[in-house]
Amino acid sequence: MFESLLIANRGEIALRIVRACRELGVRSIAVYSDADRRAPHVLAADHAVRLGPAPSAESYLNIERLLAAARESGAAAVHPGYGFLAERAAFARAVEDAGLVFVGPTPDTIDAMGDKTEARRRMEAAGVPIVPGVVDPVADAAAARAIADDLGYPVLLKAAAGGGGKGMRVVEAADDVERAFDAARREAEAAFGDGAVYLEKYLAGPRHIEIQVLGDTHGNVVHLGERECSIQRRHQKLVEEAPSPVLSAEDRARMGEAAVRAARAVAYRGAGTVEFLYEDGDFYFLEMNTRIQVEHPVTELVTGIDLVQWQLRVAAGEALAFAQDDVAFAGHAIECRITAEDPDRGFLPATGKITHLRLPAGPGIRWDGGLVEGQEIGLHYDPMLAKLIAHAPTRPEAIARMQRALDELEIGGVDTSADFHRRVMREPDFRAGDLSIRYLDEHPELLEPAPLDDPLAVAVAAALVEHRERTRHRVQRVGAKDSPNGGSGFSPWRRAGWPWEDA
Ligand code: ADP
Repeated sequence: MFESLLIANRGEIALRIVRACRELGVRSIAVYSDADRRAPHVLAADHAVRLGPAPSAESYLNIERLLAAARESGAAAVHPGYGFLAERAAFARAVEDAGLVFVGPTPDTIDAMGDKTEARRRMEAAGVPIVPGVVDPVADAAAARAIADDLGYPVLLKAAAGGGGKGMRVVEAADDVERAFDAARREAEAAFGDGAVYLEKYLAGPRHIEIQVLGDTHGNVVHLGERECSIQRRHQKLVEEAPSPVLSAEDRARMGEAAVRAARAVAYRGAGTVEFLYEDGDFYFLEMNTRIQVEHPVTELVTGIDLVQWQLRVAAGEALAFAQDDVAFAGHAIECRITAEDPDRGFLPATGKITHLRLPAGPGIRWDGGLVEGQEIGLHYDPMLAKLIAHAPTRPEAIARMQRALDELEIGGVDTSADFHRRVMREPDFRAGDLSIRYLDEHPELLEPAPLDDPLAVAVAAALVEHRERTRHRVQRVGAKDSPNGGSGFSPWRRAGWPWEDA
């Protein structure tokens, strides 16, 4: 094992990697922007290096600064986490050129899978089913129209360099192809600096099911089963689980085998994910993510395999200690992404200072987060704050456990998506495992605050509001500036005195 690792990331994933380092006896080196000077990942690591000002371009995306930090701190290897530079072949190359170990696949693998058309070509050649459509960028709007007519509507225009759900456009009818093509091309150019666009069939109501793979540098590749990630908003995942509520053992074996074939086709090393759309027993390759994923903990919980540790072991040249037949699955795991977003206002990004924090604990609960009281949540980085994961013997028990944990979770001072997750866990179709990527379109009520329909609750709420109004002048007199949220916002956990305590 290498002696030290620079973690080119922040937040919960940086903290997750620090933990793996601790367990393997590797010295961990955090990096930080000015906004993160006292962030939990910085305090947790053995050593920390400042990158620069808060904007990502000047800090977490600055390759030169990251390499300088690696040099200064004597790092032997670099882990990119997810997001930021994790899927930039140029970064992997720069790390290797600097004589350091890159924790991830080779730059060539990242390149091959980073271009969606190139990936589709390779997968087709390897016999992995792809979504019907073309494997080359489309030259112009007229060509797009001809292909779309041939495929049948609706079709999906996608940026070859796309990612994060950006640069995608659904086209419902022939007359719309031209306009959509031009718009998609412009959007792709602006977002990725590459205007290449291609076409595939837009599936009506598939599930998003992905397979975790793990490869080493000795020619071994195994899959660790699937994750169902159908609950999405604007093509971004919100809830993930393992196993999928619909996959049979045969489906799992077929998809797992296809994912291993996909990984072998690009000589994959390390942890990666092959994403598929699944519909009525058929599955189609969507893309391969050449990094650790946000939702990796559900796989860790059902397989007992520490994916981040294995990323480091593989990078250090170790061979996988298990074969496909050794991989066993136990129980059911669900992950909820806790983001600083207000689900009642169209997932509007929320900011603020964490004034109160109570984290869930107890049997089968895992909290992957880097949150502390007093922390400022700003708009510089991704709104994902943490992940709450529940593991139990069966799916209904995992849901009950997640509900219990969500009830224990208290975050004051910044709006979060926790309420949305509470609603999903109660929703009958979710509980029945009846999911598709259209789930939220079909359940718009989940994006609204739950109606307060219990008369007793309404009466108590009204009494509390009235009490607060009556005593507001007193709160202000004792100094609004001193109260944690300026004396204005209501915080259910701030002990402000109850009506019966008036004296
Ligand atoms: P990105 O790389 O931008 O995340 P993906 O290709 O992984 O894009 O697709 C993201 C999501 O978009 C999928 O999980 C799915 O919900 C939806 N999607 C992508 N392709 C299709 C398709 N052909 N038909 C229907 N939905 C699709």
